[in-house]
Amino acid sequence: MCLLKVRDLTTQFNTSKGVVKAVDGISFELEEGEAIGLVGESGCGKTTTALSITRLLPESGRVTHGSVTLNGKNLLDLNEKQIRRHRWNDIAIAFQGAMNALNPVMKIGDQIIESIIYHHGKSYANARKRAMELFELVEIDPKRIDQYPHEFSGGMKQRAMIAMSLACDPKVLIGDEPTTALDVMVQAQILDLLERLREEFKMSMILITHDLSVMADTCDKAAVMYAGKIVEIGSVEQIISKSTHPYTKKLVSSFPNINGKRELPESIPGAPPDLIDPPTGCYFHERCEFATDQCKTDPPLLEEVGAGHFAACHRKEELA
Ligand code: SF4
Repeated sequence: MCLLKVRDLTTQFNTSKGVVKAVDGISFELEEGEAIGLVGESGCGKTTTALSITRLLPESGRVTHGSVTLNGKNLLDLNEKQIRRHRWNDIAIAFQGAMNALNPVMKIGDQIIESIIYHHGKSYANARKRAMELFELVEIDPKRIDQYPHEFSGGMKQRAMIAMSLACDPKVLIGDEPTTALDVMVQAQILDLLERLREEFKMSMILITHDLSVMADTCDKAAVMYAGKIVEIGSVEQIISKSTHPYTKKLVSSFPNINGKRELPESIPGAPPDLIDPPTGCYFHERCEFATDQCKTDPPLLEEVGAGHFAACHRKEELA
């Protein structure tokens, strides 16, 4: 059953240099219990997508078009009071960099308790009991509930962030680079934890990551974002093994495999375009080795290349 439907979502920021269209007409759906990865380089609109869905954009940003329908209700139509009822209860976000997201001068347990009291109106004693259960759920000793962030390791802080985002049993969890800055072993543990929680609570998940190996380990499907647009979307298998868009292919080439060496995504020549003055045609044409004259003038549309697999490239048939 479709739980979350994002349609033609468009988000702009007003900056001193002009208007930036950070998310440019993206659409995707999420079934109950399903996980989708939003992948791409930094600055491609992944986090802005999450902030637009949860209505947590900073003042300079606004959604100018589209809809975000959760359980049949368009979240973009709600006023601030109404959206607060859905945020954390129905859709929660675990921010990247737990180090910065947690309040350093407040006990970690109290940060979770505060959010349970605010959203569920529980008594302090019941909220504390629930916070201890959440600690156990994310495999932190509940006795550490009265410790401060500086007393936790990086991995434990990330677990605490996940516990906080689960405080109100959300139907959809958005993980924004939840394993960035963690070493490989801790990263694997956090991914295992997310997988277990997703199965246990039949929770749907949007995982934002620049690392395709994290996406492949955790998600059912993936949307590749470039310069605010989805340039390819499909199952994880289709994105990893049958990618069609040259940008996806470049990202996949950084994915470790037993036959090849690992290259970092940053090895893609050039950088994403300046969205204050984006190029004409395909936004990727200045970095694409397959670009033709048509690519410089005509924006490609997202079109089906296989069952449930879509790509936005004029040369998708040849490149498939
Ligand atoms: Fe490259 Fe052209 Fe395809 Fe864009 S449309 S990805 S420039 S081949």
